[in-house]
Amino acid sequence: MGSSSGQSRKYDHSFKIIMVGDSGVGKSTLLLSFISDAFTELDPTIGVDMKIKYIKVGGKELKLTIWDTAGQERNRTITDPFYRGADGIIFVYDVTQKRSFTSITSFWTKEVEQRSPKKDCVKILVGNKVDKCQESQKEVSTEEGMALAKQHGFLFFESSAKTQENVKKCFQELALKMLEQLQKQRQ
Ligand code: GDP
Ligand code: MG
Repeated sequence: MGSSSGQSRKYDHSFKIIMVGDSGVGKSTLLLSFISDAFTELDPTIGVDMKIKYIKVGGKELKLTIWDTAGQERNRTITDPFYRGADGIIFVYDVTQKRSFTSITSFWTKEVEQRSPKKDCVKILVGNKVDKCQESQKEVSTEEGMALAKQHGFLFFESSAKTQENVKKCFQELALKMLEQLQKQRQ
């Protein structure tokens, strides 16, 4: 079992997760929803930075260190250390804003891939704010989201940080997949 200093909890594995996507898609809100099981209104310029959450998945206690971009995504000034050593990447777009979906491809090809993430880094695509629209008002259909995820080998979910829909699920599925990757490596 690993453990960091002091009174912190014991865990079997520790994973670094980073969140990327256009400004305003709900990255910070998703993260806080996951951490606190509640919807919180945030100051977009401050964001969240980094949070730690312990979860039990696949019979293992996992320490998730989740890094959020705190406004840097606006100027695309996210730096190498942010990406370094990431075990999981969450790509977030807003289902009611097509542009944020289009941005995902450039985040992947221009930002992430260029920084040579770990080969077995797990990626998940999350279409957020599903509470905001009837299916007909959506700018990005579920099928389009699925197709992009399939193309790049990402997991895929649609979520709402507001209603909590699929918020836990996204992080749990990502954690499970990271755990699988780790176990594969160790075989
Ligand atoms: P970020 O820039 O990607 O971190 O986005 P924020 O988390 O700051 O969210 C931007 C705005 O969208 C805020 O006003 C949030 O309250 C709102 N928001 C975030 N997630 C959702 C959601 O799932 N549904 C709705 N309706 N609003 C959301
Ligand atoms: Mg933010």
